[in-house]
Order: sequence, then C-alpha cells, then structure tokens
Amino acid sequence: MAQVLVVEDDLEMADEIRCELQAHGHQVDVAQDGAAGLALALTGRFDAITLDRGLPVLDGLALVDAVRKAGILTPVLMVSAFSAVDERIRGLRAGGDDYLVKPFDLAELAARVEVLLRRSQNRAAVVNLQFADLELDLISRSVRRAGTELVLMSKEFQLLEYLVRNSRQVLTKRMILEAVWHFNFDPATNLIEVHVARLRKKIDLPGLPPLIHTVRGAGYMLSDTP
Ligand code: CA
Repeated sequence: MAQVLVVEDDLEMADEIRCELQAHGHQVDVAQDGAAGLALALTGRFDAITLDRGLPVLDGLALVDAVRKAGILTPVLMVSAFSAVDERIRGLRAGGDDYLVKPFDLAELAARVEVLLRRSQNRAAVVNLQFADLELDLISRSVRRAGTELVLMSKEFQLLEYLVRNSRQVLTKRMILEAVWHFNFDPATNLIEVHVARLRKKIDLPGLPPLIHTVRGAGYMLSDTP
C-alpha cells in the first residue's frame, strides 16, 4: 500500500481523487491549501503527491519548489487548470515528474500515480529488463521472446521498454504518446494503434500466450494473465 498526498482546494475534486486512489488500495491524506500541503510533504512520508497548481496561501509551483529545496524527492503529479501547457510545468515534467490538465478522467490520474509510484520504487539503473519470457537488453537494444531473438524498429523497442517498465498497469494512449513520442497533445491519428499492432505481431507469436492486452476504453497493458 502506498501513501499518497492529495493537495487540492476544491473539496469535491479532492474527495473524488481520494476515493479513486483508495479504490486502488492506497492510503490518502488530503491538504486543502498550499501551506498545509507543504507541511505534510516535508514529512517525507509520502510515496507520491498529486498537487493542484492553483492553491490558496501557497501555489503548487512554490510548494514543489520548497519541497525540492528541502531535498525531498517524492514524485509529484501536478494538476493544472490551464489548458495551455505552462512552460514551468513542462520543466517539472522534464525533472522526472508528471502533469495533468483539468478536466481529466480519474482513471487517467490513477494510472499516472501508479507509474510515479513504480518509478520511485525503481530508481536503480538497469541494463536488462525481463517480463514473463520476454528479455530486453537495453544496451544492445535487443529483444528475445522465449529465447528467440526478435527484430524491432527503434520506436517499437521504446514502446516495448515502456510497457515492460510499467507492466501489469493500464497505460493510456496519452501516457504512451508522452513517454514514447514526447507529444504533449493528441495528434488525432492512429499512431499508437499502428505501432501496437506491429509490436504485437512481433511479440505475440502464434502458440505463445499474448502479452500485450487492449484495455477497452482505457489503453493497453502488458500482462501474462489474460
Ligand atoms: Ca485550485
């Protein structure tokens, strides 16, 4: 069970986020202004923080600045009401964290929190990734399934690496676009569908249990259980 801090001044929204994260098995603390949020964040006892950008007393950016200056590395998902992506929020994301623009689906928020939690547990550098009978060598960028070497294009490899690093988690198309293509917008094409289909053809060979699953209406998941 992870400990998640939700900093949100809109009570209804805070409650919805809390319920969603609790449904994912996490323990949730809520702070309703920036100062209360900062005091809790500085305890360092949280595994992830969802942080509204516009907050009374102390805004979200000032809060995350203060937390980082105190040497606390808890991953932060910044939630912003601005539709245009703020440059500084973009900077935060480059620092290893993430952001989400309101309005958002609660499922999208929960999926992003899961990825941040996974990332904070997995800070060590690795050169090999393994999932079921799939092996990725991150240095030679080679892939084997059930011992058979597979030939992947560069984007297919990056997509598979992202799926393996976040296995058994739902990954939305937006998350995949941001992580693999570095797009902050939906290009309104079937880019992802095309790449997933190609990757599937190479990975999920006939006679082997399929690993790449479509989660209807949500995205994709790498899983060895159907
Ligand atoms: Ca707010």
